[in-house]
Amino acid sequence: MIYADNAATSFPKAPGVADAMRDYLDRIGASPGRSAHRLSIEAARIVFEARETLAALLGMDDSSRMIFTPGATFGINAALLGLLRHGDEVIASSMEHNAVMRPLRHLEGERGVRVRVAQTDGSGLVDPRQLGDLVTDRTRLVAVMHASNVTGTVQPVAEVSREIGPVPLLIDGAQSIGSLPVDLSRLGPCLYAFSGHKGLLGPPGIGGLCIGEGIDLEPLVRGGTGSRSEREEQPDFLPDLHEAGTPNAVGIAGLLAATRYVTERSVMSIREHELALFSRLADGLRGIPGVTLFGTADPERQLATASITIDGLSPSDAAHILDREHAILVRPGLHCAPSAHRTIGTFPAGTIRISLGPFNTADDVESILEAVADLAQNQTPPG
Ligand code: PLP
Repeated sequence: MIYADNAATSFPKAPGVADAMRDYLDRIGASPGRSAHRLSIEAARIVFEARETLAALLGMDDSSRMIFTPGATFGINAALLGLLRHGDEVIASSMEHNAVMRPLRHLEGERGVRVRVAQTDGSGLVDPRQLGDLVTDRTRLVAVMHASNVTGTVQPVAEVSREIGPVPLLIDGAQSIGSLPVDLSRLGPCLYAFSGHKGLLGPPGIGGLCIGEGIDLEPLVRGGTGSRSEREEQPDFLPDLHEAGTPNAVGIAGLLAATRYVTERSVMSIREHELALFSRLADGLRGIPGVTLFGTADPERQLATASITIDGLSPSDAAHILDREHAILVRPGLHCAPSAHRTIGTFPAGTIRISLGPFNTADDVESILEAVADLAQNQTPPG
């Protein structure tokens, strides 16, 4: 079997993740930051180390500004609902995932937030100048994903940050963390939301939101934090302001093991591995008659994610045949990003997305190319 659906969630997970989660459940089990006993202290140490390790990976000076969330979706919602008020204006790229667009459309209806969509080019690439020019004195936020989950296009977020000046930039980092170097200290004011279960190679149900210096968010959820328990108001300090309720310590234990693996192997070496695989995959796909590859022509501007269509075969039929006849697992359709598919001209059928990860090999790529060539030649939908 070849797993090529890493943009949905990575598989396999990093070595050590399952052991760390089992160890937490078997040996620790307690709630971090709640009781002063030894097991609670040990759980709190895991949470502290995970926060520090993630902050270091992302180039953050102050780890308390990284809050744990159940995933990128929650972090993005916390950022948008915590920041935007009636009359504010937001600029979002046309490649954004529904994790961004759905809360924005909700805020448009409920809070009168004005949503302006900045059209990218056909490869999904934003134009930082265009974004800078769209900013007005009512612009409260610009939302640009770091890399597309549809085409793999990597956005020039540093240039965007420069062009929009003091306006905060919300970066959906679901696809970039662990796959691309991220240094938040080199960006202007920004919010960076991420999942633990994709490029970080950790478990589902845990992720985070990095809140740049000087950005204040209303909390999305209020409740017990284990701190200032004498008060009925939410603590006003980070990270407790945004971390109400018992934390997902088992997820955080897995995430810590995953982040350590990624840090030790190094994001740069993962990037090089994936870039080599992607370059071969993209070259091979471009050479197959009847196959269209989307995204940019420059592998340096790409994740190891290839979105394709095959003439005469629907993406869902193609994915079904790849699974059934070739044991190659990919994801067809719209990938929760209808606006991105409208942008690249593949709405409503979508594409076949082949997304590679750190554990894929050159042999996997050759097998995928053979199978796609076979499909393109004999495009017979399953009966
Ligand atoms: N944004 C992008 C670009 C994604 O690919 C995904 C995952 O599918 C998300 C947001 C949502 O991430 P999660 O499911 O971890 O909340």
